[in-house]
Amino acid sequence: RDPEAKKPAWLRQRAAQGENYTRLRESLGELKLNTVCVEAQCPNIGECWNGGGGAGGEGDGIATATIMLLGDTCTRGCRFCAVKTSNKPPPPDALEPLKTAVAVASWGVDYIVLTSVDRDDLPDGGSGHFAQTVRALKELKPGILVECLTSDFRGDLEAVSSLANSGLDVYAHNIETVRSLQRIVRDPRAGYDQSLAVLKHAKSSKEGMVTKSSIMLGLGETDDEVKQTMADLRAIDVDILTLGQYLQPTERHLTVRDYVTPEKFNFWKEYGESLGFLYVASGPLVRSSYRAGELFVQNLVK
Ligand code: SF4
Ligand code: SF4
Repeated sequence: RDPEAKKPAWLRQRAAQGENYTRLRESLGELKLNTVCVEAQCPNIGECWNGGGGAGGEGDGIATATIMLLGDTCTRGCRFCAVKTSNKPPPPDALEPLKTAVAVASWGVDYIVLTSVDRDDLPDGGSGHFAQTVRALKELKPGILVECLTSDFRGDLEAVSSLANSGLDVYAHNIETVRSLQRIVRDPRAGYDQSLAVLKHAKSSKEGMVTKSSIMLGLGETDDEVKQTMADLRAIDVDILTLGQYLQPTERHLTVRDYVTPEKFNFWKEYGESLGFLYVASGPLVRSSYRAGELFVQNLVK
């Protein structure tokens, strides 16, 4: 059966438009940059690229985009994710950090999220590659805000601290789901406590480090479990939380257990902010990098 058929109306995708969106879209092709925003046909592209103002509105904020480093093939196989997998992906392109930095610096976004597949085949999990990209980018365009959304580097805390000290502005790592569903949802090499350890270490690696995590809803978690996960993230001083609806990418992936209503997502936003998160982005179509630049500047750079 078509998983699309059962989707409620609030998940219908909005067409992207807006002045800044059009400008960024036009210049993207010449730069040979592959963004997650375009590749994954992300429904938030209008809002993120316009820097706010809604899907069709004009941006008055900070434009955000997401770039995938280290190739398109992951060494893990999470049951919610449609990325290609292999034990031996092609080696990384050593020039990618510089090429990415040059392209992003000349592109006109204000906040860039660097993310990647998991690379358990590399000795440092790819952390050095991330760090080189951050350094090159900050050198070429010092004003740009950089978030790295990373894997757990198999719990390698040295990899975490060296990346945390590369000059990035936000260290993000997604816990993805509540404790009881980790083994069902994520690759067995990932885990709840390992993800908490990564976030805790990132926070303590550098003074003033801003950390961020994300939870998908609709996988069968209970409200009490969501509250516990939020409490666990706050207990290690995670600053920013995002919550979004899990959507089944293909029939081979986990089925959606519940479609969480927009009202319930609003409840979670208020609940999370009452726990002390600097901000919580929560909504059916919210993804980890949703309007990240705009919300960062509104809430953190005061
Ligand atoms: Fe791009 Fe992330 Fe925004 Fe989607 S949510 S448009 S992937 S920056
Ligand atoms: Fe997808 Fe990340 Fe899991 Fe790889 S580690 S399968 S990219 S969610």
